[in-house]
This record gives sequence, C-alpha cells and structure tokens, in this order.
Amino acid sequence: MVSQKKYLSNKLANISKWYNEIVEKAGLAEHAPVKGCMIIKPYGYALWENTQNILDAWFKKDGVQNAYFPIFIPYSLLQKEKKHISGFSPELAIVTTAGGEKLAQPLVVRPTSETIMYQTFRNWISSYKDLPLKINQWCNVVRWEKRTYLFLRTSEFLWQEGHTVHKNDVEAREMVMKALMWYKDFYEKYLAISVFVGEKSASERFAGAKQTFAIELVIPTGKALQGATSHNLGQNFSKNFDITYTDEQNTIHNPFQTSWGISTRSIGGLILSHGDDNGLILPPKIAPLQVIIFPIYKNDDVINQTIDLQIKRIKTTLEKSGIRHSIDERRDKTIGFRISESEIRGIPIRIEIGPAEIEKKVIIISRRDTLEKQKISPDNAIEFINESMEKMQNDLLRRSYENKNRLTAEVESFEEFKTIMNTNRQFIRAFWCESATCEEKIKEITKASTRVCELNELEKKGDGLCIYCNNKAHRKWLFAQSY
Ligand SMILES: [Zn+2]
Repeated sequence: MVSQKKYLSNKLANISKWYNEIVEKAGLAEHAPVKGCMIIKPYGYALWENTQNILDAWFKKDGVQNAYFPIFIPYSLLQKEKKHISGFSPELAIVTTAGGEKLAQPLVVRPTSETIMYQTFRNWISSYKDLPLKINQWCNVVRWEKRTYLFLRTSEFLWQEGHTVHKNDVEAREMVMKALMWYKDFYEKYLAISVFVGEKSASERFAGAKQTFAIELVIPTGKALQGATSHNLGQNFSKNFDITYTDEQNTIHNPFQTSWGISTRSIGGLILSHGDDNGLILPPKIAPLQVIIFPIYKNDDVINQTIDLQIKRIKTTLEKSGIRHSIDERRDKTIGFRISESEIRGIPIRIEIGPAEIEKKVIIISRRDTLEKQKISPDNAIEFINESMEKMQNDLLRRSYENKNRLTAEVESFEEFKTIMNTNRQFIRAFWCESATCEEKIKEITKASTRVCELNELEKKGDGLCIYCNNKAHRKWLFAQSY
C-alpha cells in the first residue's frame, strides 16, 4: 500500500503547510484570480451545505425566518453608527463606478448587514405586536484582508447572520445566549470540537455592540481561532436608526437588538482540529460521504461478478439506512492509491471487498481516525458501520476535549506567561484587571490577545492579582495568540 506520508507535510511540525496541502489535495477549495478570494469546490461546499442544513433547522424551530438583503449598502447608512463605521472602515470594499458612470454616492459591498437591515426594520416595526422580530440571512460578505488563508481568512466569505429585535433587555440577552449555545452545540455535537465559550473584552467587541460573546477553538499548536460570535447590541443601533415601538400603554420605546453569525471559517477550524499526517479526518455527522466502498477486482469475471453482487447488496442497505456513501470502482487506479486518496479526504468508514473476502464471506471495514481494520460478516455490516460512526464521533470529541485541556495552562506570574508564549505557545488562563492598558501591553510583549472570559467566570468576584500589573483582578481570562 502506498503511504501518503510521502506527499503530506507533518501536521504538528508545520501546520500551515499541512493545512494548505490538505485543502488542495482533499479537493476542498482553491485560490481565485482575485487575491484573497476562494473557489469552494464541491467537496468543501458539501461541508457548508451540511452546516446550513443543521443550523437552519434549529433557527427555524425557534421562529427565525430567512430573508435576503442587498449586497450593496449606501455609504451614508454605514456612517449612522459611529463605532460601527470606524471599526469596519479599514476593510471595506467600495464601488464608486457602475453602469459606466461615477456614482453620486459610493456603495459599500456589505461587510455585515446591521445597517441595511435596521434601516428596513424601522419600517417593519411600530407596535409591541411586531416583536420579537427574528430574521436570518445566508449570504456572502466582504472584508478586505491583507494576509489571507483559504477558509480561515478570506476577503469574501460565506456566513449566516441572524438579527433579532426585542421588547426588552432580558429577551435580547436570552437570544444572545441561545444563539451562542446553538454554535457551541454545532461545534461539539457535529464537528466534534470541544470549544471555549465566553465574553469578549471591550477592545475585542463587535463594532457597535454592547457585549460580544464568542466560541473559541484551540488549534492543535495552541493558537486560537474564533469560531462564531453572538452580539448583544442593546439599543445602540435602534437609537441611531430610529427604530421604535409602542407598548401596551402606547408609550414609545427603542427596542433591544442582537446579531449573531458563523462563517465558512468553521470549515477551516474543522480541518485543523482533526486531521493527521495521512490527511483530513471528518466526523461522521458532518462528512459529505460517510462510507466509501472499494471493490478489488481480479482478472476473473466470475469473481468480479460476485464482488459486484455483494457491493450491490451493501449499497441497498446503506441507502435504506440513510448513510451517505459512494463506490470507487475505478480500474485505472491501484487500490493503494484509492485508499490513500480516501484517507486524504477524511472519509470516516472504508469498505474493501476483494476475492479473498468473497472466499471467506467477509468484508473489511476500517475507521479513518484509528485506521483499525476489521473483518465483518456482510450481514452485520450496517450495524457495525453505525456503531463505528457513533464511536468515532465520540472519540474525536473526547480527543478534542483532552487536547484543549492539555493546551491550556493556569498561570500565576507574567514570567511564566512569557515563557509559555516563547516556547510551546498555549492558551493561558490568568487573572487580568480588565484595563485596556494591561491588555495592550500583554499583546505587545507576548503577541497573545484576550480571547474570552469563560461563562462560568463571568459572575465571579474573585480576589486575584492581574497577571501583568498585579492590581486587583476579579475574573480569570483566556489568552492566546491568534492563528
Ligand atoms: Zn492589570
């Protein structure tokens, strides 16, 4: 069997090289003619479609409705919320000419849709009866990036953005947490990635938000990747966009708003989290293909016909069980090549059927994560496959949880903090006084930024000392370098 190790870089030794090779060789995406844009290939897009199907069902069950707003936003609209425009200015793509004429007012290609949606929400809302309003859109957004990375950081990316409007602060806060938990569940139950969940510091907040909550992924090299965000917008936007409603007593109020999103970056996180030196490893619940079947033919028509018959039987039962599968019967590629390719693509379960198996009345089933091979009677195949996929899904999550903890250090002195950031670069949990000065200094010296204050820390009134200035600090924060 050909070992694909010859072709792929060692994951932990050079993770970015490994990542680029996987994205290309697994057929997930490629670079577009415009620097920073990506072409998502069918296998990569299938991962996004699965993401959409799972989340969209949860959103709709909660009464969120899908809609679509235009990609172009008048520049003046973006200026209505001052923090919002100053936060997004450096990365805006702006259209100044269209239809052969210079435009009277430049148009911004949406970096996010708060402004254009809320200008409209103003007309949709007048009474408490119109609330809550829950709108989501699946779309592309553009944020011009200087350094780009397929899936992880591209100038154009795909995402969903949920935007809700509520009568009061309590309802809005509940919505913010609900969206955050959808993302946490999606990462843990489907992508099998154990994540940190918490609130961002003031300097890391979404431009114009009162509070930003985030999902943070621990990359196997100890760096951080922001996986999704959920914002409590308070009344900032409703005041600037003049959204009002009258309550039961006919009093006029500005409502409370939230926005939340997850993007194609989640696919980048998925690739980084589970692959090994043989390629990608996809958790069965998100994998576009869960099972691949390899017939191993011989120069013997009778045996080949028996192999085909056996495969047909298995295919029928896979179809009945709703298992996503495919048969790779290419005769111009060796079995070694085909197996290596399926490993690079991370397909969870592989079935091999050749003359030896036919003779012994078995089939060979292997798991992509453990590379374990087992001989099974074809009659027990479906049961065994279902069990294996469930085990694999759980094992991957457990491994991710163990990695996350192994790569997170409790630190009590800044010396130790610096040593870690200079050597094996991990997540660090430490007391911080929550002053922007300390946060900046820590970042300047160690390149580590605050990630989140974890949910279970938020209400704490501890009596710790800031890791940098030694002044009183009440809560521990997570720090890490950005991937
Ligand atoms: Zn401090």
